[in-house]
Amino acid sequence: NNGPLKPNEQVSQKLKDELEKMLNSSGYVSMGRVRSNLPAHAFKSTVVKTVLGSQVTIVSGETGCGKTTQVPQFIMDEEIMQGRGATCNMICTQPRKISAIGVAERVASERCEKIGNTVGYAVRGETKVSSDTKLQFVTTGVLLRRLQSDPTLDGISHVMIDEVHERSVDSDFLLIILREVLKKRKDLKVVLMSATINQALFSNYFNGAPAIEIPGFTHPVEDFYLEDILDMTSYVSHMPMVKNTKNSDETSTSSHLPKGEWAQWQIPYLEKGYKEHTVRTLARYRNQDKIDYELIAGAVKYIVDNETVKIEGGSEPAILIFMPGAMEIKRCVEALQDKLGGQSDHEILPLHANLSPQEQTRVFKAVPAHVRKIVVATNVAETSITIEGVVYVIDSGRVKETRFDAANSMMHLVETWASRASCKQRRGRAGRTRPGKCFKLFTRETDENKMSPQQVPELLRTPLEQLCLTVKSMGEHDVRKFLSRAIDPPSVAALDSAIRSLRQVEAIDLTERGDLTALGKHMANIPADLRISKMLLFGSVFGCLDPILTIASIMSLKSPFTSPMEKRAEARAAREKFNFSKSDWLTDMKAYEGWYEIIKSKGMKASRNFCEENFLSFATLNEVQNLRRQYTDALSEIGFYNKSNHQHFNQNSENVNLLKSILFAGLNPNVAKIKLPDTKYDKVLSGTVEREKEAREIKYYTKADGRVFLHPSSLLFNNNSYNSSFLTYFSRMTTSKTFIRDGTEVPSYGILFFGGQIDVDHMGRGLKVGEDGWIRFRSWARIGVLVNQLKRLLQLELE
Ligand code: ADP
Ligand code: MG
Repeated sequence: NNGPLKPNEQVSQKLKDELEKMLNSSGYVSMGRVRSNLPAHAFKSTVVKTVLGSQVTIVSGETGCGKTTQVPQFIMDEEIMQGRGATCNMICTQPRKISAIGVAERVASERCEKIGNTVGYAVRGETKVSSDTKLQFVTTGVLLRRLQSDPTLDGISHVMIDEVHERSVDSDFLLIILREVLKKRKDLKVVLMSATINQALFSNYFNGAPAIEIPGFTHPVEDFYLEDILDMTSYVSHMPMVKNTKNSDETSTSSHLPKGEWAQWQIPYLEKGYKEHTVRTLARYRNQDKIDYELIAGAVKYIVDNETVKIEGGSEPAILIFMPGAMEIKRCVEALQDKLGGQSDHEILPLHANLSPQEQTRVFKAVPAHVRKIVVATNVAETSITIEGVVYVIDSGRVKETRFDAANSMMHLVETWASRASCKQRRGRAGRTRPGKCFKLFTRETDENKMSPQQVPELLRTPLEQLCLTVKSMGEHDVRKFLSRAIDPPSVAALDSAIRSLRQVEAIDLTERGDLTALGKHMANIPADLRISKMLLFGSVFGCLDPILTIASIMSLKSPFTSPMEKRAEARAAREKFNFSKSDWLTDMKAYEGWYEIIKSKGMKASRNFCEENFLSFATLNEVQNLRRQYTDALSEIGFYNKSNHQHFNQNSENVNLLKSILFAGLNPNVAKIKLPDTKYDKVLSGTVEREKEAREIKYYTKADGRVFLHPSSLLFNNNSYNSSFLTYFSRMTTSKTFIRDGTEVPSYGILFFGGQIDVDHMGRGLKVGEDGWIRFRSWARIGVLVNQLKRLLQLELE
């Protein structure tokens, strides 16, 4: 076959030549030495052969063995060397943006290339790929979105799903879709990569697909539970005792020992048996659910002062601390700085998903031999990111998990106990370089009785509205059937409730099949709670985006106002100062705007003072600002915002009644009828004090609960006048009576316009709200028709 090469063959030949040249370059050779020390290296030919011979392959192995960085390269290099470079086009998904970017950069540098050549990445809001890119790392969300417009992944040769063991909704969902795609695309290869958990589960799911397990380098790790940590004082109780200068009657321990709470567990005088008992009791009665920063700092100090092992090359071993979230990491870093002082013999580094890629790479950088690296991380360091030289792990045992809050039907991050499987992964991080130690800030009892063996897959613990909406937007009408193909299918009840919610927010229509509306189509593209995405779209269409962005972000997070137990009244008064237009949300919005003005005009320090004076949380306001940006990006992507046309999207931003109506559009059907005191009966009822008080009270009624009560935390609690008869609320909770929280007065036309088919009876009987009966809009019968026309117009605009 000596004829001229076809174009594809020419490209493949060129790629092969380039690769061969690179393999011999000096930079690559030295990088190659590092790479060939990874356990994955020995499995190169096994991986390549298995992938060639099977449509689906599962690769598992200890964290750090080289799955993520090496396996895609093995496959790509083989494809190029075999002359199939032209058709090689691989996608590898990562659960988080931070790992997609980080891994892509690492792989590019291993190949001595710039990012965006052979290796690239695509995450929401940032893409670095070119026509030369053969391997791109993407977030799972990016691939899911691509599947919507390109359901058979045309031109993709390999899809690799990393960290499948995490069982996120996105990755479980992706697996359902891929199983279908594989039927249509016999040439497509799928590789699943996971930590050493549940390989069999994935293999079964794909008809007994072959699984390769790469053994990691693991050294033994010694465990210390809370009771041991408290008891550790016995290691040092032989140290010289020194007189406490302040109170000479008492002996205090040596200055080696950490001060504060840590030191209070020094019980060197107690007999051994009694001491053990005391320590165990102390441990048991500690509130382990609350992170004790002093204890963590004490444990670090203990390691620094007492552990003398060195790692290869005489370096100080690193300490890795697991915390539930970014906020806790920040506090932990501060506590450590306090405890260890500003010396140059340690470097404390945070690691979590909200860091910029530059900040993230700091944790990989080598430090001088005498410097001890202390990394404070979330569970991203559990399996997705490996830090070299870790010998000590301190595990808070806590994790942030998304949970459903039935009171307001919203998802929230809740701190809870990590699973035993997670803690095992965390512990494993200590044994990579040499035998290590794991300090657990919880008792053995907690481990055995409170921690679950494995985290429940996200698909089974979260509401499915957004997922069902995505399924619909892919053109799958039978959502139930589709999702029944998941590894762990969700319950029928959960699915029914999701479909009901989709109807309620008008993302799907009222037909039996439930077709996607124009609104629903766009909502599917916004990664937010349905009610939030509806508000955002309306905010854009009605030209009041800025305020709605702020409210939507606060609603997704929490109120920026703090309410310290001991200063309730002052905090309340501070919030009252911002009280705006009979709405808790608009008041919070005003506070954010105030803060934003100050940060812009006077800078960080002034804005912190502003927070202090006004009982505002700087951290929350900061998060609101970030989320606002994310929502803005999402809206820009689908053409509902354009930075260069900012004014257009805000021409009605001062129209408070419009804002309130849009708030209601999102929160519908959370609406209460306001009943003002009936002055006519004042005299008649003035028999007893109670009855009089009752008669003068403002009352609230809802359709579902009858009379409800405004929660005292609302700014409207003491309000005594309204301009409208309706109040939209965010959440409701039933204790002795039903309380509604976070109210906003809504103009009647807002109710009529956004009330939806469910509540507005266009036959002219009016609008039904509350047990109070019908609220009649008889004369508005014609308006009902008009409203429908306007709604149709709105749909057109959305289309
Ligand atoms: P796995 O996916 O099996 O957990 P990886 O492929 O992520 O393993 O990592 C393999 C090795 O490469 C690890 O030893 C890790 O420390 C190193 N590594 C990965 N990313 C980087 C990076 N950005 N900088 C330096 N080293 C890295
Ligand atoms: Mg990995």
